[in-house]
Amino acid sequence: MENLKNTHDPSNTRQIKNDYAVILKDQTLADIKSALKALFGPADQAFLYAIGKMYGIYYYKQLLNSDVSSSSNILEQIFEFKREEGWGNFEISLENGEFKNAVVRDSFEARSYRWSGKSPHTMKDMPNKSLEPVPMPQCSFLKGFLEAVLSFHLKKNIHLNEVECIAAGNDKCIFLQKF
Ligand SMILES: [Zn+2]
Repeated sequence: MENLKNTHDPSNTRQIKNDYAVILKDQTLADIKSALKALFGPADQAFLYAIGKMYGIYYYKQLLNSDVSSSSNILEQIFEFKREEGWGNFEISLENGEFKNAVVRDSFEARSYRWSGKSPHTMKDMPNKSLEPVPMPQCSFLKGFLEAVLSFHLKKNIHLNEVECIAAGNDKCIFLQKF
C-alpha cells in the first residue's frame, strides 16, 4: 500500500520545476474555506464545485494542446500531475470505456478536517483553527474537477456524487456516477 502522506518534494515535480508556483498549506486552504463559508453560507460548496468544474475544462484543454499529452494516456497524466502537486492519490476505474468510480486518497480538499480527529498529524502540527470533522462530504472542488475531466475525456456528461469522504470520517473519498 502506498504511503498516504505526501513525502515527495513538490519543487522537483515535472509540472512545477519549469513553472512558477505558490504553496498553499492545508491550513491556509482550511482558512480560505472558512472564509468562503462565512461569505456564502451553504452556497460555498456550489461555488467551489463551479470553480472546480471550470478549472477542469481549462486544464484538460491545456494538456490536450501541449506536447505532454501525446506520449500516453491523458487521463493518467492529469491525475499523476495532480498527485505530484499534492492534491491526493487518484484511482479512476473505467470498464469498457464506461466510468465506474473514482477513489481519492488523502484529498487536499478534505484532509484538514481530519486534523482534530483520528489523523496522522500530531497536536504539535495542528494549529488551533483546524476544521472539525463534518457529517457531509466536502470535496466539491474535486467533484467539479473530476466531472469536467471525465466528461471531456469520455465525451459525455458525467455527474458525480461523493458518497464517502475523509472529512466525514471515511478513510478515502469515493465518487460514484449520479444518474
Ligand atoms: Zn472528500
